[in-house]
Amino acid sequence: MNTKEVIAQYDKYVMSTYTRIPDVIVKGKGLKVWDLNGREYLDFFPGWAVSGLGHCHPKVVNAVKNYIKKIIHVPNNYYNMLQGKLAQKIIENSFEGKAFFCNSGAEANEGAIKLARSYGNAKGGRYEIITMENAFHGRTLATITATGQPKYQKGFEPLPLGFKSVAFNDINAVRGAITDKTTAVMIEPIQGEGGINVAGEDYIKALRDLCDKKDLILIFDEVQTGMGRTGKMFCFEHYGVTPDVMTLAKSLGGGLPIGAMIASKKFADVLKPGMHASTFGGSPVVCSAALAVFEAIQKEGLLSNTVKMAGYLIERLNELKKKKAVIKEIRGKGLMIGVELTIPGKDIVEKCFKEGLLINCTHDKVLRIMPGMIVTKKQIDKAVQILEKAM
Ligand SMILES: *Cc1c(COP(=O)(O)O)cnc(C)c1O
Repeated sequence: MNTKEVIAQYDKYVMSTYTRIPDVIVKGKGLKVWDLNGREYLDFFPGWAVSGLGHCHPKVVNAVKNYIKKIIHVPNNYYNMLQGKLAQKIIENSFEGKAFFCNSGAEANEGAIKLARSYGNAKGGRYEIITMENAFHGRTLATITATGQPKYQKGFEPLPLGFKSVAFNDINAVRGAITDKTTAVMIEPIQGEGGINVAGEDYIKALRDLCDKKDLILIFDEVQTGMGRTGKMFCFEHYGVTPDVMTLAKSLGGGLPIGAMIASKKFADVLKPGMHASTFGGSPVVCSAALAVFEAIQKEGLLSNTVKMAGYLIERLNELKKKKAVIKEIRGKGLMIGVELTIPGKDIVEKCFKEGLLINCTHDKVLRIMPGMIVTKKQIDKAVQILEKAM
């Protein structure tokens, strides 16, 4: 099949829920991908942050290859060899508590929402969750409601009750939204889809204090920021506070579908047998991939490479900003970088694509640049060169 035929097949048989670039990707290695015509691209937005180690990291490929021959799926009414091991790995690298495994970010957040409601309801009918404007928490009914953006909600009413959306980075807005029905506050420490908006340190510390005082569960959605993306294993580490619940997905499985909800000791046993489940959650093949992701990050020094390369990339982008008046602001943490423009970014993304560089634009004017943690200076130079040309 050629590109045209693949697209025709999609048009006929696949629901048109996505705006797609008319190209078929067939191969990936590191930060490079190739399309059906053999054209090579430098991928600075690998799968919405899914391929955080780059494409087909050898440790992930080997882990999957080795395990898939033994058994592919073990149902959760039995034990498997790797789910506990992965939970231990996540806990040892985050905070004391327990993990629940599912298959995606939205599901991890659904789990967090259920945990928060279960805890609050048991304390006397508390079920409200405060979320942030411009958040993104997924596409299920509850998570589009938690996602404080009308464009994701329109047409799907009635939405579940019990969510309140307030301004991001504004502690008084949170304070003002708390009622005797509030059970949790849910936030991305850096809003990804919302335009790479970084939560302030004082704000997060105040949020932690407020949640402690009011017995509210502080939920961090680290689906995009987790697993080293920001230069620390988890973004909460930048703030010197720990959340009560943390959700993960995206790069956790090195490209394979896995989601996780982590709850601190105090909340780890809120969900009791029968209250929550996932048929595929924590199956050994995806757990083996996630364990390989941890091993790669830790044994290959990828956190320090992320910090180093992020510094270099920001430096190069700041140079570009001096030359290009269309750049309004550069922000982010680690290799989660937003370049806010004075104009819509769509054309620049398209021009970059034509020149062989994959990036993303969110919120109309923010270019999202998130290369894998294995990125090199040479690749950054090439990407910035293409970006300059596109601008
Ligand atoms: C992508 C994303 C989600 C949703 O994850 P899915 O795997 O698509 O369900 C949730 N939260 C954040 C912060 C995300 O970036």
